[in-house]
Amino acid sequence: MKKTSDFKSYKKEIMGAAHDDRLRLALSRAIKSFRSNVKNALEKFPHTVEMAEEVLKIKEASIPRMEELARQAIATIEENNGRGYIARTADEALEIIADLTGTKKLVVKGKTMTGEEIGLREYLEDKGNEVYETDLGEFIIQKMGSRPMHILSPSIHVPREDVARLFSKIMGQEIAPDSDIADMVAAAREYLRDKFFRADIGISGANVVAAETGTLFIIENEGNIRLATGAPPVHIALVGMEKLVPSLGDAYKVSEVTWRYANYTIPSYVSLVSGPSKTGDIEKVTTYGAHGPREFHVIFLDGGRTRLAKYPRLAQALYCLRCGGCLYECPVFAVTAGHFGDKYFAGIGAVWAAIVDEDMEKAASIAYTCLTCGRCRERCPVKIDVPEMIIELRKLLAEGDSA
Ligand code: SF4
Repeated sequence: MKKTSDFKSYKKEIMGAAHDDRLRLALSRAIKSFRSNVKNALEKFPHTVEMAEEVLKIKEASIPRMEELARQAIATIEENNGRGYIARTADEALEIIADLTGTKKLVVKGKTMTGEEIGLREYLEDKGNEVYETDLGEFIIQKMGSRPMHILSPSIHVPREDVARLFSKIMGQEIAPDSDIADMVAAAREYLRDKFFRADIGISGANVVAAETGTLFIIENEGNIRLATGAPPVHIALVGMEKLVPSLGDAYKVSEVTWRYANYTIPSYVSLVSGPSKTGDIEKVTTYGAHGPREFHVIFLDGGRTRLAKYPRLAQALYCLRCGGCLYECPVFAVTAGHFGDKYFAGIGAVWAAIVDEDMEKAASIAYTCLTCGRCRERCPVKIDVPEMIIELRKLLAEGDSA
């Protein structure tokens, strides 16, 4: 579905952000710490740089085959007693998930950019479900009624004093603005704790999927995804088709490179999920739904990805690992955060807006905000050439190509 957004409101938003001193302060702190963490992680594990070159080759070989890999993954997931689906459009994905969920359900969600892309939480809420974001940053954003400002750190722009005020309001207990951040984290933990165990459905994304075994690799630090995908009786995963790679070995390499360039030497948790929970402990009879979910559903979303894969200079956008590193190098992002972009931020966001979201006005706004300085390319583990894509996109926009 083609969309149009309003350039004037984009301009107002981005100019407002650029003059927001608190935002700049929050970002400058985050950028400093991110750069130093990545430097440390790469110095400690120098093989990551070489592994990133391998990952680029894996992505180059996988993207043209993503449809075939999705079918292979679905066959394997179904052998493992799960269910797999290909959704051609965002609407199709929403319908599949709504059918699986029903109404008046309690849903706990892990952070998923693909979910953000299709407006999943809002859709399920409109269907009469009670939905909780369980990633702390997403939880803050949900309760503020705001939108994410970074792909890994959605609440990067919210200072602790605002979090304290928000939590005091929704949790009915006073949290002083000068409280320790640990107290705020503990309050969120307590608030969400029973939701995991009362939930009917747990929803997640995945960082990468191995087609040969149908295994989702999910990287996290908070432990919320482990609970959201482990405690409820049903686990639904929504995954962009570009996340598929052929083998478990490939998927591991993509994961390691992703977390290193996302500023972690090692994340606290990497979950590998290939099917519903099962046991054969009583008379060797395989029975599904032991301590984990008894149902496992994976929806692979095309949503414009196979179309994007056909554009010679733009297809590289599909190699993105969502490590978030480029955002910390981008001079525009440094003063505007996620106001520079839409669902996907900074220069690469223009390509997603044009081809995946089909919002040409938004794509043009982002493409002409981008300075094409190329700092993002230097940081990117898979060497995505954003300036090249932006120049190509501007050309297509000028030619009136509806992409
Ligand atoms: S474009 Fe590259 S640096 Fe930016 S998020 Fe994607 S993989 Fe990471």
